[in-house]
Amino acid sequence: KELLKIENLSAGVEGKEILKNINLKVNYGEVHVVMGPNGSGKSTLANVIMNNPEYEVTSGEIYLDGESIMDLSTDKRAKKGLFMSFQNPMEVSGISVENFIRTAKSSIEDKNISILKFKKDLEKEMDKLSMDHSYASRYLNEGFSGGEMKKNEILQMLMLNPKLAILDETDSGLDVDATKIVSQGIERFLSKDNAVIIITHHRELVREVVPDFVHIILNGEIVKVGDHTLIDKIENEGFNWIREEVN
Ligand code: ADP
Ligand code: MG
Ligand code: MG
Repeated sequence: KELLKIENLSAGVEGKEILKNINLKVNYGEVHVVMGPNGSGKSTLANVIMNNPEYEVTSGEIYLDGESIMDLSTDKRAKKGLFMSFQNPMEVSGISVENFIRTAKSSIEDKNISILKFKKDLEKEMDKLSMDHSYASRYLNEGFSGGEMKKNEILQMLMLNPKLAILDETDSGLDVDATKIVSQGIERFLSKDNAVIIITHHRELVREVVPDFVHIILNGEIVKVGDHTLIDKIENEGFNWIREEVN
């Protein structure tokens, strides 16, 4: 069953075209990986799916569960089940991790959430991510190491339980153990009722989950789609062989 469909999507920023005619279909239960050189448009794609107002869609459509979401703000898209973890998460002073996630969850689910039950669930998830409980009361991302920020993004995903999670280089800056923990978190998250799009340069993040499709973006275009074996090939050989194929 189809969760996300992107049709002939072009988008840019300040009149500069970044994404060109993107087509992408994600079914429930699937894992999609997006790879591409720096500056190829991967984060832009994630931001456009979330409707970050910095980016302007010049043509195309995005459907979620068969309905166009083009007119929906970022907040409304989150309510419909979209989640994005940021390549460079924001620091939010004065708001604790616990409050931030609980507020987001109650806004998405449109209901009050029991503080005690939430805390218990949060701590359970933190244990699985090898995060000290004290992080729950720290200000969001303030003074967090790169690895702590990334784990925190996965914690948010697990607690908010979206239909589609887009993870933008959630492995960058992680050591081997933390990468494994994050990869296991993705595996715990996945079910037949959701899907993930993982933007990454490394195979390690998808060790615990087998991607169904790997999409290669060059200069804002998806130029190749393959299976998980593409990841190893790119880690070993880079993108030049694909550039040659395209030209
Ligand atoms: P990737 O995530 O693949 O490294 P990005 O999507 O971040 O690539 O960037 C694609 C291109 O668009 C780059 O040339 C980048 O400089 C440009 N770009 C992205 N976001 C902005 C922005 N907010 N303002 C100006 N240029 C941007
Ligand atoms: Mg990026
Ligand atoms: Mg990126």
